[in-house]
Amino acid sequence: MKFMKSHRCYDAIPTSCKLVIFDTTLQVKKAFYALVANGLRAAPLWDSKLQRFVGMLTITDFINILHCYYKSPMVQMYELESHKIETWRGDSLRNVYLQYSNNFLISISPEASLFEAIYSLLRYKIHRLPVIDPESGNVLHILTHKRILKFLHIFGKKLPKPAFTKRPIQELGIGTFRNIATVQQTASLYDALSIFVERRVSALPVVDEQGKVVALYSRFDVINLAAQKTYNNLDMTMQEAVEKRICCVEGVIKCYPYETLEIILDRIVKAEVHRLVLVDRADVVKGIISLSDLLQAMVLTPAGIDALLS
Ligand code: ADP
Ligand code: ADP
Ligand code: AMP
Repeated sequence: MKFMKSHRCYDAIPTSCKLVIFDTTLQVKKAFYALVANGLRAAPLWDSKLQRFVGMLTITDFINILHCYYKSPMVQMYELESHKIETWRGDSLRNVYLQYSNNFLISISPEASLFEAIYSLLRYKIHRLPVIDPESGNVLHILTHKRILKFLHIFGKKLPKPAFTKRPIQELGIGTFRNIATVQQTASLYDALSIFVERRVSALPVVDEQGKVVALYSRFDVINLAAQKTYNNLDMTMQEAVEKRICCVEGVIKCYPYETLEIILDRIVKAEVHRLVLVDRADVVKGIISLSDLLQAMVLTPAGIDALLS
């Protein structure tokens, strides 16, 4: 906690990074293709009429658009083909999808502490936090849970580790252990998108009939549909969707209830993933331990703050 309070967002920003900003008059389809082409996951939205940032475009928005307009593989999604970002955001249907108001970008100053950045990410349940220079108004970087935890892992190495990191994760109760959102491998990709929309979770363990985890499908994987131009067939099974995606992670990165927090931290940072799937000895899904849970437990809980409570 002290480490996060004493370091600024500026400290965690890389010396150079790629960043794109979309004008809200850009077509949604082109915007997602541009994310794919640049290997990016999100971009701030600029409204040139208002002359300010009005939000973010993330893969969650792509999921919402597909879920909203998809009918069948035989029917082209006219709205995805033709809508501008502003048309989508101004569509009355979108109200059930969009989490934040039309005109609201959650951002942070480079001078703010990493503690404040973690608080914003968890409190607003977002995964992208733009760092904006208050003087120039320029976006300097987009902070994520991954970046912050990695920074702590590298530069906090010499700090004494809190005693609780030696305790088993089950005993510490860090993570979600009830009502885990999963998807059957025989379910359709559209079913998975529906779960993303309804439960607002960042990933789904893909399971077999026994509840054993066979794959992990995250919101990020949905961008493959834009990359491969296969978003017109959401009737494919999850098994097909998993096989077709281009994924840089081999297998499912898991953990067990008896493993210590220290081991789990090490594994999640090395694997560069946003969560581990907690399983029993038979590989049956028992929980999710996400970077949000870890940052809450290690940084906010010691300060008496629970940002994950909705
Ligand atoms: P993803 O996990 O797909 O990157 P997020 O969880 O960050 O997406 O986004 C969830 C929703 O919140 C999306 O509709 C996105 O546009 C919106 N959003 C994300 N970050 C911000 C932000 N900094 N300010 C305003 N809205 C945001
Ligand atoms: P982001 O960087 O957008 O938070 P994620 O960490 O959710 O992205 O996902 C990045 C890639 O890693 C995706 O292809 C996803 O399927 C994979 N992935 C994420 N978590 C796991 C996990 N626990 N096991 C296996 N693959 C994972
Ligand atoms: P995340 O969106 O992954 O940062 O996590 C936010 C909260 O949702 C954390 O408490 C996670 O444990 C929880 N969570 C993430 N994925 C799932 C899931 N598939 N089912 C239930 N809870 C989840």
